[in-house]
Amino acid sequence: MVSPTVSDRRKRVFIRTYGCQMNVYDSDRMADVLRPLGYDLSESAEQADLVVLNTCHIREKASEKVYSELGRLRALKLERREAGSDLTIAVAGCVAQAEGEEIARRQPAVDVVVGPQAYHRLPQLLAEVARKAALVRAGKRLPGAGVLDTEFPAESKFDHLPSPGSVRAGSAFLSIQEGCDKFCTFCVVPYTRGAEYSRPVSAILREARALVAKGAVELTLLGQNVNAYHGDAADGSTWSLARLLREIAEIDGLVRLRYTTSHPRDMDDDLIEAHGNVPQLMPYLHLPVQSGSDRILEAMNRGHGRDLFRRHVDRLRAVRPDLALSSDFIVGFPGESDSDFDDTMRLIDETGFASAFSFMYSRRPGTPGAALADQIPESVKAARLAALQALIGRQQHEFNRAKVGTTMPVLFAEAGRKPGQVLGKSPWLQSVYVDGSPSLVGRIVDVRLTDGYALSLTGQIATSLEDAA
Ligand code: SAM
Ligand code: SF4
Repeated sequence: MVSPTVSDRRKRVFIRTYGCQMNVYDSDRMADVLRPLGYDLSESAEQADLVVLNTCHIREKASEKVYSELGRLRALKLERREAGSDLTIAVAGCVAQAEGEEIARRQPAVDVVVGPQAYHRLPQLLAEVARKAALVRAGKRLPGAGVLDTEFPAESKFDHLPSPGSVRAGSAFLSIQEGCDKFCTFCVVPYTRGAEYSRPVSAILREARALVAKGAVELTLLGQNVNAYHGDAADGSTWSLARLLREIAEIDGLVRLRYTTSHPRDMDDDLIEAHGNVPQLMPYLHLPVQSGSDRILEAMNRGHGRDLFRRHVDRLRAVRPDLALSSDFIVGFPGESDSDFDDTMRLIDETGFASAFSFMYSRRPGTPGAALADQIPESVKAARLAALQALIGRQQHEFNRAKVGTTMPVLFAEAGRKPGQVLGKSPWLQSVYVDGSPSLVGRIVDVRLTDGYALSLTGQIATSLEDAA
């Protein structure tokens, strides 16, 4: 049989996810697309019939990892063939989008290359792979075995995806917006994910209700520029993120609501107000600023200066005094002087962060930043990154320590590192370890914090579990 439509034997797919939460969401949705074809999730490539690498192109290191993983998979595929079976290899995500044909050239063992806007067509692509394999077995010579789909289809993939199946330990991601029109000069996203697109309100509400019905008590709304959301509603109006958050917060059974990733330019008054009066919205906001130097922010084409960021933080803390902030920083953007970097360190010092992601600038082919003169030596970038991470690390440790002695609701996510331990997340996304049973996973339970470390806290269950049930 050529087509991989519903099979009499369940098959196994291993999906490896690189990069951001949007990719985690896409991987879950690919699993949803593959399930009706007979694919269950596998824990490793060795046990799988199909391997999907869902890739990230944001920094050079992230995309190079993909090629080394493909080398390993090629060896596995050859072993399988010698044993008379096969392994299908698919590359999805942003490396697939950006380097489609290059992937097929560098690694001919790859069967499918599919971009982030086209993975709803995986069933057709796998059917095409199977058709080609059958022709080859019948002795036909084909110009290339791989199948490539890196179109930005006119139809939205969301209209073609099955209803979501993935709620992990009471928590789920929900993608509401994709793509980006902002063209920061360091970033590949506008090229790999395409133009900004907001899903219609009704589709999002339907998916949110379905996820809560499947047991989600926490939803994280996702978008490359999530607060640029402007979705069409059934009555012809356009909803902002704030309006959407208020509506989703009304869903019975939903306790926690988050959104990521925001851009300072799109933090409007209504959204700031929502942090003060939507109780389900968690007191934690990831708001990337990238740099504290106005000169560098301009060269990055961020469209705002440090003052706007500081004003947003002040206003957010005025409406929600316990709000904790996280951010993204890039050090060593072309032309960044010691004094620019000092401005970034000062901004961090003045603001106070509960955590942050920080990166050395990575020169990405095709972006305006890659063509700029005055690229910064790697050694300078590394020294700046170490200094910045040390400062953030001190702030994070201080933030964690300040919670010791308090009691807070924790959503338990998985078994902890030590036997008998479970790991959960605080409202501020801190990792909290307690001694307890795996039956806590997926539940929100009050915990009294006893110790605060650099990256986590420990605590004790503070309620009788019958009360918490
Ligand atoms: N849309 C978000 C925003 O505007 O801040 C960020 C999305 S991007 C996927 C995640 C983070 O990767 C960015 O905030 C930035 O800090 C980092 N990043 C993107 N391109 C980079 C590059 N060329 N080198 C280093 N870090 C980069
Ligand atoms: Fe990339 Fe800038 Fe768009 Fe964020 S806003 S995805 S950093 S181009």
